[in-house]
Amino acid sequence: MQVDGPLCGRVRRGVEPSEISRPKIRTTWFSPCGLISPSLAIWPSAMRFAHSTLSPFARRDIITALRYVRGVIADEITTYKNRTRWPRMRVGIGQDRHRLKSGGPLKLGGVEVPHDQQAVAHSDGDVLLHAVTDAILGAAALGDIGEMFPDSDEANRDRDSVEMLAAALTRVHDAGYRISNIDCIIMAQRPKLSPFRQQIQSRIADVLQVDPSQVGIKAKTGENLGPVGREEAIEATCVALLDKNDL
Ligand SMILES: [Zn+2]
Repeated sequence: MQVDGPLCGRVRRGVEPSEISRPKIRTTWFSPCGLISPSLAIWPSAMRFAHSTLSPFARRDIITALRYVRGVIADEITTYKNRTRWPRMRVGIGQDRHRLKSGGPLKLGGVEVPHDQQAVAHSDGDVLLHAVTDAILGAAALGDIGEMFPDSDEANRDRDSVEMLAAALTRVHDAGYRISNIDCIIMAQRPKLSPFRQQIQSRIADVLQVDPSQVGIKAKTGENLGPVGREEAIEATCVALLDKNDL
């Protein structure tokens, strides 16, 4: 039987893979929890010893120390319960669509792509960054881009979408999350976006304060079908995964 990786040696010694126990996962709460049982078990004896054997001064110090230890253990239990109460990983989705009009350039992912069309929008119309913004806000259950930057507000006219994404990221960070990765799809019949993929990926990674390897960018045409295929609209979808940043 061919077995790859670290199991090879154990298989050669005649141990079936099914008999090999899975490695124990170490997390930070194991050590304080390991103190609970022995601490509780010795607690009555320790208190009896403190009351009966020691001088009043030593007794006071030891009782204070024991109460401190008991408080630390109780805090660790509470912290562990809070950490495990909600899932640490959070997923969110964002989708956006803009009509197109004549006259470029096309703003995509914070990059100006040379084109003979541009998005119709109250802001700068960066459909990709709007989808990313909604995805990270949605993953943290913090609303959406329309709530943060309503198009009824004149202050948001022609607003830079990079600025909006950065503001959403600050909210996400303040809520205790960090970006694990995002994956995006741009739907545009034209122009061909593959020459700009790397530039868009680096720009978004820069704004999100992550490595470019954490940003997936894919571009598809509308196959000449629907509003995208007729070059009437451009669309983008983004999925974001967040990780709780408290360990
Ligand atoms: Zn938009």
